Amino acid sequence: MKALLEQLVEENRPFARQGRVADYIPELSKADPRELGICLLSQDGEEQAAGDFQRVFTMQSIVKPILLLLALLDNGEEAVRAQIGVEATGKPFDAINDAEQELLSEHLNPMVNMGAILLSTRIRGENSAERFRRLLDFTRQLADNPDLAVIQAVYESEKKNGSRNRAMAYLLKSHGLLCEEVEDVLDCYFQACSIGVSCRDLARIGCLFASHGRAPGSGKPVFPERYARYVNAILMTCGMYDGSGDFAVKVGLPAKSGVGGGIMAVCPGRMGIGIYSPALDVKGNSLAGIRLLEQLSHRLGLSVF
Ligand code: GLU
Repeated sequence: MKALLEQLVEENRPFARQGRVADYIPELSKADPRELGICLLSQDGEEQAAGDFQRVFTMQSIVKPILLLLALLDNGEEAVRAQIGVEATGKPFDAINDAEQELLSEHLNPMVNMGAILLSTRIRGENSAERFRRLLDFTRQLADNPDLAVIQAVYESEKKNGSRNRAMAYLLKSHGLLCEEVEDVLDCYFQACSIGVSCRDLARIGCLFASHGRAPGSGKPVFPERYARYVNAILMTCGMYDGSGDFAVKVGLPAKSGVGGGIMAVCPGRMGIGIYSPALDVKGNSLAGIRLLEQLSHRLGLSVF
């Protein structure tokens, strides 16, 4: 398996040249576009990795399924569902819903910014700082890595260049969907996006979703199976932005990407996969990362379809 991963990394690395590192958050543009890494963690706890799998990068949108899971644990499915819908938007992650149209909770999706910004207020906590602390602790627990931390330079860069996210938050507020102060809410959201992880952390979190909430190796329950199914279903329909249909056809796995170049893929009943390659395609997904996953899926028969 290790030899296969190494071969696929070397075959796909040159394709990163066709993508572009995100630069709308200036700090992200410093990433090396040639990097490509992968880590697999199987349900029985066996790990395989290749390429730049130890590089630490920011989660960005990959934190969204974790936000959703924590909100589900804190409030239950019914309450979350009543405030944030589940239908794919078919639009880019930072699309601003038409202000002419009435904005309803069912128009929101937890895997794109508007839904995720609202979701970050649905985590239990006295204030935004406490909500973020709980989210970070929970992410550390899922990744089984107490060292996970915010990458400060990216957080500051997000905050300084977050006009579009501010516009979305104010729009939510104007439609009566968001009650809290916009800057406080965004502070939690920007920090959440700036949590640093490696492919190994993503593989471990993906593996928990793959094993329906049970820890790899020990099988110890970490969160309820029904929430894993809820999150996996949403990852399948809209985890890869407006490239989710194409990804479902090519790879056939629930997955979430982030503009930092990470992908967390979930192979139900088998394994979690973490990928890193920061050069993105036009939809904001890791270009070489998707190619690598597509080939791996064919070689190992990973598609759920
Ligand atoms: N922090 C990013 C933003 O909200 C996350 C985007 C992403 O990875 O999709 O702009």
